[in-house]
Amino acid sequence: EYCTGGYMPISYKTILGDKYQVVRKLGYGHFSTVWLCENIINKEYVAVKVCKSANIFTAVAQDEIKLLQCTRDKNPDHPGSRNIVQMLDFFNCRSINGSHTAIAFEIMGPSLLHLIIQSDYQGIHMPGVKTIVRQVLEGLVYLHDECNIIHTDIKPENILIKVKKSYVTRMVSTTKKFYDLGVLMPKSYVAADSFTELCGPQDDDVNDDVFEWTRNRSYPEDYSIGNGGSNRRLKEGNLKGPLWIDPNIEVKIADLGNACWDDDHFSSEIQTKQYRALEVILDAGYSFPADIWSLGCVTFELATGEYLFNPKRYQRCSATADHLTLIWEVLDGIPPYITSKGNRAIRYFDSGRLRHVEDHYLKIWKIEDVLVDKYDWKRINAIPFASFIESMIEPDPQLRITAAAALQSSWLNE
Ligand code: ATP
Ligand code: MG
Ligand code: MG
Repeated sequence: EYCTGGYMPISYKTILGDKYQVVRKLGYGHFSTVWLCENIINKEYVAVKVCKSANIFTAVAQDEIKLLQCTRDKNPDHPGSRNIVQMLDFFNCRSINGSHTAIAFEIMGPSLLHLIIQSDYQGIHMPGVKTIVRQVLEGLVYLHDECNIIHTDIKPENILIKVKKSYVTRMVSTTKKFYDLGVLMPKSYVAADSFTELCGPQDDDVNDDVFEWTRNRSYPEDYSIGNGGSNRRLKEGNLKGPLWIDPNIEVKIADLGNACWDDDHFSSEIQTKQYRALEVILDAGYSFPADIWSLGCVTFELATGEYLFNPKRYQRCSATADHLTLIWEVLDGIPPYITSKGNRAIRYFDSGRLRHVEDHYLKIWKIEDVLVDKYDWKRINAIPFASFIESMIEPDPQLRITAAAALQSSWLNE
């Protein structure tokens, strides 16, 4: 994809935008490559996202910049604005492949997907889950209520962990491939003590020892994530409990590359499959509640290490039909006034029932029971957590909990 219209060829020490000197690659996506750079004027490290050069990518990048300008400028005093990864600068770069839009961001560390992988798909200890979910909700209140923005791609990969300067310094001083944040978890990150050192409390007067990142198992040699998480399965028989993380952890929502305005959508097909809201699947129109659905799925995944919904294609059943079946089973049915709305509803529902599966094949399995039966939770813990998740995956988007209301929920505040 390093061709005309594609990625910009970039090497070590290249200077981007007259002042950002390239140190190493951090990651890449569909639209761009992302680089750790040093601002040679103030010596600060930043992440620079250099977009592909074809017109279509430039147009997407321009939209991303407008959305990021809004999140930067709308209300910097709002408590949730700090939970959105900040744009610092944007500019244009020329290469043999064309003209590329580039965006400089505050530097961040690994994503929540890295954390889930580090837990060996066992999930994160509950106080850590609450801290993370609270901060993502704060970020969503800001996006939704202040900026009028729908993120449309809330998932673990797009929530990044803030790291200390020492973490960045280590990235600068090694050239090893496993430090490529976009692909692998750095090896040193695996040790509990260095985890604290690199991602622990930002405040230097806080005694690190107080905030121990407790780990109680060894990790396999190979940390390869593979292609976008296709190998994300719980290893059978490996039930050693959740990963303990420092509840001081700080996270931010990243990648506004697919985001849109509530009154100006760019696409009717949004979200990554596993996190796709019911109204999006049915093509019944969407708004802010679609982000809440995704966060409900993410919350379950953080706590258990596994997807809430992982639809698969079968011989007689499309992935979408499977997805609707899974939702039906978890919610104990979907009201007919919901299944009759939406441009795709007729394809999957007939008189309020699933077309492709007979009732007696359905296995109703509510979240509370999933947690008890499959994950060995105590029922007393499962009840409040399940009701929190259920409020976020309410099938009617009008009745679904808002980000602001979710922040007041009893589960988060007990
Ligand atoms: P996608 O295909 O997901 O739309 P994209 O081309 O829009 O990708 P991003 O998702 O914004 O690009 O970034 C690609 C990767 O670069 C991220 O997954 C992450 O690993 C890394 N990255 C992005 N922003 C930062 C940042 N501020 N600090 C550190 N790493 C970052
Ligand atoms: Mg992304
Ligand atoms: Mg993107």
